[in-house]
Amino acid sequence: MSMEGNVALVTGGSRGIGRAICLELARLGAAVAVNYAGNSQAAEETVQLCRSLGAEAEAFQADVSEPAACEGLAAAVKERFGKLDILVNNAGIARDGLLMTAKEEDFMRTLDTNLKGAYFCTKAAAKVMLRQKYGRIICLSSVVGLRGNPGQTAYAASKAGVLGLVRAAAKELAGRDITVNAVAPGFIKTDMTAVLPEKAREAMLTTIPKGRPGSPEEVARAVAFFAAPEAAYVTGQVLCVDGGMAV
Ligand code: NAD
Repeated sequence: MSMEGNVALVTGGSRGIGRAICLELARLGAAVAVNYAGNSQAAEETVQLCRSLGAEAEAFQADVSEPAACEGLAAAVKERFGKLDILVNNAGIARDGLLMTAKEEDFMRTLDTNLKGAYFCTKAAAKVMLRQKYGRIICLSSVVGLRGNPGQTAYAASKAGVLGLVRAAAKELAGRDITVNAVAPGFIKTDMTAVLPEKAREAMLTTIPKGRPGSPEEVARAVAFFAAPEAAYVTGQVLCVDGGMAV
């Protein structure tokens, strides 16, 4: 599997799963555009790590919850690298709270980042990819989007919404060799899950047949499968990387 000559854009690439995806794609030969919202230092670290693997890489600031910023991001990557072959919609937030007490603001922010962000980045990237007649789009969903989880109604809705986006876009774009797929992680050890109370983390572990959390690198390998030229005949699919959680 080689991505030599491909250009990849990874949203929220400065840390966690996003950083691991940047490094995996860099390792496979892609040039990597590392998107970040606010932490330029962390994004620069990802860029340096990609370069140390021999890949071209550059950081691009954009808040994906703003449609105009998504448009500007895809255009800036095309301008810098001349093309855009792979989009990974990884940027995401989790603002948990029970349905009865959750605030409208948290619901809106979660939907704006996780669903609206993925939608408008997909639209902006597809504009470039349609002209190229080639593209690989991968969205980070979640097992929570498939199965639900108490206290995560907004997050679950956003991640289930991503799956609808993936399936519809897959059908629309298939004729131009553009695939759209989703990876649904279970419980992965990152900053996002580090904030969970110890009790919640222990409870989560009991629901994982493998008995351990996954690593960002394990998610990145699944993303790389969909991102490869060889995965041309796979579209509209969801791959769970969850140690058996969703089975
Ligand atoms: P993380 O919080 O470590 O990283 C998320 C990244 O997204 C951060 O770099 C953050 O700055 C960026 N981001 C947030 N809002 C943004 C915005 N508006 N514009 C641009 N970037 C923005 O989380 P993670 O665990 O690495 O999660 C990565 C993805 O995987 C997310 O979509 C998350 O929902 C999904 N996921 C994670 C888990 C898990 O267990 N960690 C499970 C299922 C799905």
